[in-house]
Amino acid sequence: MTNIIQLLPDHVANQIAAGEVVQRPASVVKELLENAIDAGATNIQLLIKDAGKTLIQVADNGKGMSVTDARLSFERHATSKIKLAEDLFQLQTKGFRGEALASIAAIAQVDLKSKTQEEEVGTHIQIKGSEVESQEACVTPTGTVIHVKNLFYNIPARRNFLKSTAVETRHIIDEFQRVALAHSSIAFSMHHNGSEMFQLPISNLRQRIVNIFGSKTNEKLVPVEEETELVNITGFVGKPEFAKRTRGEQFFFVNNRYIKSPYLNHAVTAAFEGLLKDKSYPTYFLFLEVDPKSIDINIHPTKTEIKFDDEHALYAILRSSIKHSLGQFSVAPVLDFNRDSNLDTPYDLETKSAKTPHVEVDRDFNPFQEIKSKSSSGSGFQQRRQAAPPGNWEALYHGLDSKDENNFSKVEFESDAITGQLFETSHLSASSTTFQLQKKYIISPFKNGMILIDQHRAHCRILYEDLLKSITVKAAVSQQLLFPLSLQLNVQETEMLHHLREALEQTGFIFSKMKDAEVEITGIPTLITESEVSILLDQLLSDFENEIPESGFLQTDLLAKSLAKSMAIKAGTQLDTVEQIAIVNGLFACKEPQLTPTNKKIFITLQAEDIEKKFM
Ligand code: ADP
Ligand code: MG
Repeated sequence: MTNIIQLLPDHVANQIAAGEVVQRPASVVKELLENAIDAGATNIQLLIKDAGKTLIQVADNGKGMSVTDARLSFERHATSKIKLAEDLFQLQTKGFRGEALASIAAIAQVDLKSKTQEEEVGTHIQIKGSEVESQEACVTPTGTVIHVKNLFYNIPARRNFLKSTAVETRHIIDEFQRVALAHSSIAFSMHHNGSEMFQLPISNLRQRIVNIFGSKTNEKLVPVEEETELVNITGFVGKPEFAKRTRGEQFFFVNNRYIKSPYLNHAVTAAFEGLLKDKSYPTYFLFLEVDPKSIDINIHPTKTEIKFDDEHALYAILRSSIKHSLGQFSVAPVLDFNRDSNLDTPYDLETKSAKTPHVEVDRDFNPFQEIKSKSSSGSGFQQRRQAAPPGNWEALYHGLDSKDENNFSKVEFESDAITGQLFETSHLSASSTTFQLQKKYIISPFKNGMILIDQHRAHCRILYEDLLKSITVKAAVSQQLLFPLSLQLNVQETEMLHHLREALEQTGFIFSKMKDAEVEITGIPTLITESEVSILLDQLLSDFENEIPESGFLQTDLLAKSLAKSMAIKAGTQLDTVEQIAIVNGLFACKEPQLTPTNKKIFITLQAEDIEKKFM
C-alpha cells in the first residue's frame, strides 16, 4: 500500500492555527496591542474601521524589528520571547507562542513597517494569505506600525460569521480596556471610523480608570492593598452603593494579564456580603501579583482562564483584604456601641401611635390670582405622573379606549370562558368595583369569579406594546424640556446610545447632542418625568451591556422591554379607581395580555366554583 500521510503546507497550517488564535477582529486587536507592549512601547495607537472588519491598525514606539526579524516574525513558532521550555514558567511577556502574526497574515492582508533605534531605514513588508508580496526598505520612525486589512477575506464563511458592527466594536473596546487598564504607564489612544474613542495619557491606575470609565468613577473607588508571601494585591473596589446592575466593570489581572475567574469573583462578592442590594454586582479592578511559577497560563491562546497552585489561600486573602478595605473606608456598617441611649424612644411611648399635627389650609388662597392669563395648557410643565389628575392619567391610554371594542374582538384568549367574562370588564365605568390590594394588585370581579392583576406587570405589557408600536410604526409624542438635560456618560455608553438613538427618538426622546461623553436631551416621552430620565437610560444601557441583539427587530424588542420595565408603575404605588380601570382596560386591549414581555404571568383568575370549594 502506498503512504498517504503528508505534511501540511505552511499556509494551510497557518490557516488552521488562525482558526484558534483569531476568532474575531477583537482577537487581532489584543494580539497586536500585546506585541506592542512586549516591544517596550510607551505610546500605542489603535485605529479601526468598521469594527475592525476593514482595518485594524496599531502603531507603537517600541523597539522595532530588524530586517530579518521583521521577515521572521510572520513564521509560525517564531518568537523572540522564549527560548527554552523552562522559560514558560517565568514568562515576563504577554506573547510567547510565536503564532499570532503568522496566523493573522494567513487570513488577512497585512502591511508592516518597523525600524529599530540603531538602524537608519526601516523595513516594509506586505503579506497576504501567508504569501509575502513585497519587502523593501522604507522611511519610518523607530517602532512598528502594522495594518491588518480585510480580515477573513479568504475565508468567506468566517467573514460572514462576524457579528454586527455594534457587537464587534464592543468586543474591541473590551480588549482595549483590559490592556489599557493593565498598563497605565503606557499612553493609549483608540479611534473608530475617524472619531476618537479613548485618549489615555500615562498616569496612575486611579486616573486610568477615571479616564476610561468617566469622571464620576473617581469618588466610587476604594483602594485595596495587601502584601503576603503568596500574593500581592493592589487595585480598587467600587463602593457598595455604586454597585452596578450588570457585571460590566469587573476586572482581575494576574501578573498584569487580564483573567476571568468565577472562583475569585466569588471571593470578592463574599467580601461585599450584606452590603449590596439584591441583583447588583460590585465593581472591581484588582491586580494580583504572584510568582509566575505558581500559575499555569499555557492553556490556550485566547482563553482568559488561569490555574493557580493554591486557590483556597488566594480566595481567603482576597476576601479578607477587600473586607478590610471596605471597613477602613468605613463603608461597611460598624456596630455602634456608644450610641446615646437618650436618643432612643422610651419603651412606654413606643407603643403609642403618633399624633398627626393639625394643619389649617386657606382653600380660597390663590397665589396666581394676579396673573391674568391662567395658562391652563402649560405645555412646558408636565406634572409628575403620580400627581397628575386621574383624567390625565387615563389619557396615557388614549387611543386604546376608543377602539376597545375592536381590539377586544381581535384578542385571542387561551380559554373562551375567560374571554366572555373579561369582555364585560371592559365596560366597567369609573364607579364600578375594582380595588387595589397591598398597593400591588388590582382585583376586578367578573360574572363568574374574579381576576387578580399584578399592576406593575400589567403596565409593563401595556407600555411594551405601545412602545413597539411607536418605534416601528408611528413616532410617539414628546414633551419638550424647558432646559436641555445634560448627562455625563462614558464613551462606551454614548457609543451604545448612538446605536439606539433612532429607536429612542421614536419613543419621544429628542437628543440635541450625542458626542464623546456628553449627551444632551431636549425632549422626553410624555410618560416619564425629567427626574426619571437618567435612571431610565442607566437601566437601558445596562440591559444592552449584557447583550446587544443582532437583528434590528430584537434590538427594538429589547429596547421596548427595557423602557417598559423602567416606566411602568411600581408595586407600592397607590392607584385610584380610574387608574385601576385604565390598567384593566389597557391590559385587555393588548395582543398578549397573559404574559409580560419577559414571560411572567400578569394575572390569575379565581372562578366562583373554586371559591365555593374553599367553603366546603
Ligand atoms: P509572540 O508574541 O508570541 O512572540 P507573535 O507572532 O505575536 O508571537 O510575534 C512574533 C515576534 O515578532 C515577536 O516575538 C516579536 O519578536 C516580534 N514582534 C511582533 N510585534 C512586534 C512589535 N510591535 N514590535 C517589535 N517586535 C514585534
Ligand atoms: Mg504576540
